[in-house]
Amino acid sequence: MSQVNRDEVRAGAIDAIEAAREAILGVGDAIHAHPEIGLEERYAADLLTSTIGNFGFEVEQGSGGLETAFRASRTGRGAGPRIAFLAEYDALPGLGHGCGHNLIASSNLAAAIGLGAVIDRLDGEVLFVGTPAEENAGGKAIMIENGAFRDIDVSLSSHHGGHETILPTAYPDGTCLAVSSRRFVYHGRTAHAAADPEQGINALNAVIHLFTGIDAMRQHVTPDARMHGIITDGGTAANVVPDLAAAEFLFRAASREAVDDLVARAEDVARGAAMMTGARLEIEAPSPDYDDMLPNYVLSQLVRDELAGVGLAETERPPASGPGAYSTDLGNVSRTMPTTALVFPISEVPINGHSREVVSGSISPMGRENALRTGKALALAAIELLIDAEAYRRVQAEFGQGSSAVAP
Ligand SMILES: [Zn+2]
Repeated sequence: MSQVNRDEVRAGAIDAIEAAREAILGVGDAIHAHPEIGLEERYAADLLTSTIGNFGFEVEQGSGGLETAFRASRTGRGAGPRIAFLAEYDALPGLGHGCGHNLIASSNLAAAIGLGAVIDRLDGEVLFVGTPAEENAGGKAIMIENGAFRDIDVSLSSHHGGHETILPTAYPDGTCLAVSSRRFVYHGRTAHAAADPEQGINALNAVIHLFTGIDAMRQHVTPDARMHGIITDGGTAANVVPDLAAAEFLFRAASREAVDDLVARAEDVARGAAMMTGARLEIEAPSPDYDDMLPNYVLSQLVRDELAGVGLAETERPPASGPGAYSTDLGNVSRTMPTTALVFPISEVPINGHSREVVSGSISPMGRENALRTGKALALAAIELLIDAEAYRRVQAEFGQGSSAVAP
């Protein structure tokens, strides 16, 4: 790359974000005021694409086969790394923005505007990618499957962290659980439960055997495993043998392989329950598989280097001893390219995830300002990646080594 004035480029990005401050924060506020659940985020997708379009980005709607997904891009002066900032904007049913995804939207919008303003002085490309339905349908998993991430080299994103500012430091910090969903539907035969029970096939009995079988599995799984389910259909009247009963489960563990093993065993249990009762079994996967997150620690360090300059201070905490007991479709992205997320504070005090406190933190002066700071840190880290070929090489080298190099 020919000479780049690093300080000028960095200052240009920060100035652009500050100049767009009202627009950026207005987008986060508006999405907060119009909560939409996953795959229905039409208002948010329209607002984000029209806004980024005003900043010289070329916009593609409906990316990766999802109506409310999008990709916006601006190319630099020459070929180079293609860096994506990933927005989320789905809400939780009945709660609104109880996971603060409106601020994931505004912080990554800020980063895209910042880098976009200076990309013509750099070799590479900036992408702003809208990834729907993190909570309920694994939008990123579907988009990856459909090729929407195929030409991207590095992904950066963000998430609120309650009262904490966090970047993953070293394995297993920042890792989380892979998850798969299964819906088990049993079909039986109705009959009068007292007059001719011998004629009935009780689908609810099959679901009950399914639950006791999975509970028995719990004795023989690793401590990271989580298996939790609900009965969605269990009959309609006590005097009718239920001919339809169904349950939905989530299976989680620290690796994709371990989850696949849990699911295979649970499906055997489900088939056993069908045989025990004579009910017919159908197995469905309501949402795509989420992979366990493998953050890129070199990339995280590049973002960490920017924290103090934008006014964020990393929270002191003990080293992680294992994966976080949650799941995210950012994990799928982290398995296809170097990825990290900056976790930023929206509250002075600890708060629960998926709570009313997150709803108010995501519209608070502190949450909004920290989203903007997060956008600045992500933009500056991306600039370093585009200027410093050696840093980019180290990021890709760590990704190339994969989890085998860092897993114990
Ligand atoms: Zn979330």
